[in-house]
Amino acid sequence: MDLGIKGKKAIVCASSRGLGYGCAEALAKAGVDLTICARTKEDIDVAATKLSSYGVKVIALACDVTTENGKEKLLEACDSPDILINNAGGPPPGIWSDWSRTDFINAINANMLTPIELIKKVLPIMIKNKWGRIVNITSQAVKAPVPALGLSNSARTGLTGYVAGTSRQVARFGVNINNLLPGMHDTKRLIDLDKALSKEKSISFQEARNSRKDTIPVGRYGSIEEFGNTCAFLCSQYAGFIVGQNILLDGGAVNSTI
Ligand code: NAP
Repeated sequence: MDLGIKGKKAIVCASSRGLGYGCAEALAKAGVDLTICARTKEDIDVAATKLSSYGVKVIALACDVTTENGKEKLLEACDSPDILINNAGGPPPGIWSDWSRTDFINAINANMLTPIELIKKVLPIMIKNKWGRIVNITSQAVKAPVPALGLSNSARTGLTGYVAGTSRQVARFGVNINNLLPGMHDTKRLIDLDKALSKEKSISFQEARNSRKDTIPVGRYGSIEEFGNTCAFLCSQYAGFIVGQNILLDGGAVNSTI
């Protein structure tokens, strides 16, 4: 399917692997030129080489998107983006009594203020161009809290509130902002969480993994390709009437009627 976005320019944050990479790859397949980033130079360079094979231009930056410098580098490398995919690492798991004010500030910076700041920077450009797509990678935890991910639950819900209002303020200018809510996808982040569960419950890594897969109606983790292709659709010409939505990609794990 031609998504109608060939030749557009995208910033895809936190994208050397996992969900960010899945989004970058699906956009590359749709003919979108990319500016990608991650903190580890070697990994982002490898990702850039793979993505270039789709025949698109790829600028790879080794930077931390949650810092001022990181955001500046991204916007210098791509000063007129048509598409912005917001992503960063998720906060660590724990229990309510563990989390200090600093832990909350770090989570809010990474998973709420960083995407908001990037959105504020790119919106004037997109509004001027009368076209833009912004997708924020948040979490299923926005709809159904994961108790051990209290830092993530808190920060991402803040971003969701911001997007709910802002998306409606800019929709008439051809700019669509939506959130993608991943349930459990097979990435390094999930491996880390499975290791934590295995330690907490004193069970093997495989038992931890299987026990979590059993909670998903499809009986498996999601793939980064499924996630990326949904993201690319939200960035397509056909998604112009989708505004301020929270789209759950969870294999049916959140048990609700609506
Ligand atoms: P992942 O496999 O660990 O990949 C994270 C990617 O982001 C890597 O490329 C990493 O590279 C980069 N990154 C992390 N922090 C960064 C930073 N500050 N600046 C720039 N790049 C950064 O993680 P994932 O599973 O794709 O998860 C992506 C997001 O979705 C996370 O916020 C996660 O909490 C959320 N999420 C994931 C799932 C899931 O099932 N996977 C479910 C719900 C929510 P470097 O480490 O080299 O920077």
